[in-house]
Amino acid sequence: REKYGKEPTIFSKIIDKTIPADIIYEDDKVLAFRDVNPQAPVHFLVIPKEPIIGISKATDEDTQLLGYLLNTARKCAVSEGLSNGYRIVINDGKDGAQSVFHLHIHVLGGRQMGWPPG
Ligand code: 5GP
Repeated sequence: REKYGKEPTIFSKIIDKTIPADIIYEDDKVLAFRDVNPQAPVHFLVIPKEPIIGISKATDEDTQLLGYLLNTARKCAVSEGLSNGYRIVINDGKDGAQSVFHLHIHVLGGRQMGWPPG
């Protein structure tokens, strides 16, 4: 069970600023930036700088980091003005429709969401 991919993803290039992104928050552990193809009026991603493939590849050692990602998502939702609520999504693997294999939390808001998701 590999935790890191063989090839760096586009998100590694965003982390090292090789390609631009609209960054909302950054520190030594995490980066939050707007999704290039937004599915809601507010749609941003929160990623660890550590290139873990996805949530299913995280380990017990990542417990603190996973909490930190979620807490960062919460704080960015406040700074993005999502006072009426929002949705947090993590897609994992094939059935989860993951397309970028660097762990990321989606935060979507600014409109009424439906349930269940497709
Ligand atoms: P996934 O389907 O893997 O959960 O979501 C990947 C997300 O990354 C998609 O919503 C997609 O629009 C976004 N994305 C893919 N490439 C880029 C990029 O180069 N820049 C930004 N800002 N978002 C990207």
